[in-house]
Amino acid sequence: MTNYVDFDPSRRLLVRRRSQLALQSLTMDAVEQSLRKALAEKQSAVETQGNAVRALKAAATPASKPEIDAAIATLNNLKLEKSSIEKQLQAHITDAGGDGSFSKEAFRQAVVNTLERRLFYIPSFKIYRGVAGLYDYGPPGCSVKSNVLSFWRQHFVLEENMLEVDCPCVTPEVVLKASGHVDKFTDLMVKDEKTGTCYRADHLLKDFCNEKLQKDLSIAPEKAAELKHVLATLDDFSSEELGAKIKEYGITAPDTKNSLSDPYPFNLMFQTSIGPSGLSPGYMRPETAQGIFVNFKDLYYYNGNKLPFAAAQIGQAFRNEISPRQGLLRVREFTLAEIEHFVDPDDKSHPKYSEVANLEFLMFPRDEQMSGQSAKKIVLGDAVSRGIVNNETLGYFIGRVYLFLTRLGIDKERLRFRQHLANEMAHYACDCWDAEIECSYGWIECVGIADRSAYDLRAHSEKSGVPLVAHEKFSEPKEVEKLVIAPVKKELGLAFKGNQKMVVESLEAMGEKEALDMKAALESKGEVDFYVCTLGKNVAIKKNMVAISKEKKKEHQRVFTPSVIEPSFGIGRIIYCLFEHSFYMRPSKAGDEQLNVFRFPPIVAPIKCTVFPLVQNQQYEEISKLISKSLTAAGISHKIDMTGTSIGKRYARTDELGVPFAITVDSATSVTIRERDSKHQVRVSVEEAASVVKDVTEGHRTWADVWSTFPHHSSASADE
Ligand code: AMP
Repeated sequence: MTNYVDFDPSRRLLVRRRSQLALQSLTMDAVEQSLRKALAEKQSAVETQGNAVRALKAAATPASKPEIDAAIATLNNLKLEKSSIEKQLQAHITDAGGDGSFSKEAFRQAVVNTLERRLFYIPSFKIYRGVAGLYDYGPPGCSVKSNVLSFWRQHFVLEENMLEVDCPCVTPEVVLKASGHVDKFTDLMVKDEKTGTCYRADHLLKDFCNEKLQKDLSIAPEKAAELKHVLATLDDFSSEELGAKIKEYGITAPDTKNSLSDPYPFNLMFQTSIGPSGLSPGYMRPETAQGIFVNFKDLYYYNGNKLPFAAAQIGQAFRNEISPRQGLLRVREFTLAEIEHFVDPDDKSHPKYSEVANLEFLMFPRDEQMSGQSAKKIVLGDAVSRGIVNNETLGYFIGRVYLFLTRLGIDKERLRFRQHLANEMAHYACDCWDAEIECSYGWIECVGIADRSAYDLRAHSEKSGVPLVAHEKFSEPKEVEKLVIAPVKKELGLAFKGNQKMVVESLEAMGEKEALDMKAALESKGEVDFYVCTLGKNVAIKKNMVAISKEKKKEHQRVFTPSVIEPSFGIGRIIYCLFEHSFYMRPSKAGDEQLNVFRFPPIVAPIKCTVFPLVQNQQYEEISKLISKSLTAAGISHKIDMTGTSIGKRYARTDELGVPFAITVDSATSVTIRERDSKHQVRVSVEEAASVVKDVTEGHRTWADVWSTFPHHSSASADE
């Protein structure tokens, strides 16, 4: 879920854009910096030498020919050196694999062509020229998606006994008003002043900076550093700042070169009305989480009034993106799988934390980001014990998300957990981490894992009047000391006018230590500087603006609003990254073609097995049907290919769909089983074939085990 609630529109951008873009490095990397510097120096050396050559030629007493030739040779050498630096810089910027390997774009094109040709996905409404940001999953795509979701259910819902719910997509306005979406779920947009075409303001600025950096290699290093800085801080730009930069750089509408309007907020929700009267406004939900929050009371009761517990929901989310791009990564309707784990704010330990504490993977804490370092491998338990990750439960979910993604087939070297910077987080959030996966588009946020404290339940309690709280009954009454923070709204209103609400919320959200420090400072100095995250600045709080005290009371129970820890999975993004991480090409046996393969693990593969009669004859076809029956009975999805095409071609066809195993019927008593990536084949009896494939597909045994158990079979065709 987005942390937009307490941000003004431009601040809200800050969070959402993070979820679509590869994180720009905060500083220009050292290699680029030194290449740009070297290029600028070489350029100036070329100019100086060019002038020297001209001067020699034009001198009143012309220089000797050998002298002029030597000067020209020096100039040519300098030009060659300059062009070599340009090439290095270009390769560095575009990461074009100067070693003859695939460029990122060419690789992506190969993946996307295969996906579209094999109907993994299809642009929706294609015969009517499609609609940007809407895609259909075709048959293999549907299977992959359903496999990912069923693994998600097994890995999270089943493992944690989560309470799964399924809420409507159409949501009444009041719910999304309370959550803040109606007011703040916006991106900044600009319009072509003549044609009215709309663009996302930050996209235009980002594209401009990237293009300049990539195509105009001769820009001064200082200018390059400025553009890099704009890219890195784009998220923090207010509407005015964005508008000013667009003007300063002379950015115009990409298609027409017409001038652009000032940026203004555009709400991303699809609006509708519920019922025929048109009097009951509603929206297509932009996330599934709200459905869980509004059901908290009933779910808590269902769970025996006990914490912690988690609810989960898989469903469609709708966002009317201004300019959808990057294929499946930024779309207008997508599947979210969200978990809301409700926990006592005073006890965020997790009983199963030790199961993940020893995992080690790439983490990118905020300090490393700020100091321009890169992500590094950290043992999760260390990150929690050193306070880098705020609490055990958050750590537990980070670990579980890591296991989920890597078991699906995401490459662990291209997966990192990036902590939100302080300015990315809502003031109420304790800590947020994004699971980012690197693909040809850069690092993409695929899962957000946030400790959102009590914010969401409080917001719905206030708006609905229904207390969304938990109780802890004491065996005997307890005298408790309670921190009471009472902002004096009248004084705050006078001092901060329209910003009063944000100051009040920030004051109320203070932890005990911060509040007591403020109390002491107010008593000694009468005034303190107080950082209001939502305003992005310090304000001066005076003694008459807030009363902070500790009061003693006898209580029979503790009533509190639970904290929420929320892992939120963008299923389409995970699947796309999985496609890229699974894709490779290998030469055909004849060496005349490159064949495409998806190395999906069996749990993800759209079809687990194919069955081929080696040649078209009745006996082999009968046996194939028999094996197919056994596979169906064992619940293994499979396909029979009885066509007369060569067996090599049939293997290649299924490799391209990522089918991990193929059974070839080549005798009346035994068959071969081929594994897709090694192309190794073993021979098993007809009776055993289905159960071997079932075992290896469901992870009861490994292929290595099968390989060491059964006789090997070698055939030229398996090599296709
Ligand atoms: P958010 O609520 O913006 O943090 O989004 C939750 C998750 O949904 C993100 O981690 C993304 O994986 C995914 N997501 C957000 N926006 C889109 C989009 N327009 N298209 C596809 N996935 C998205």
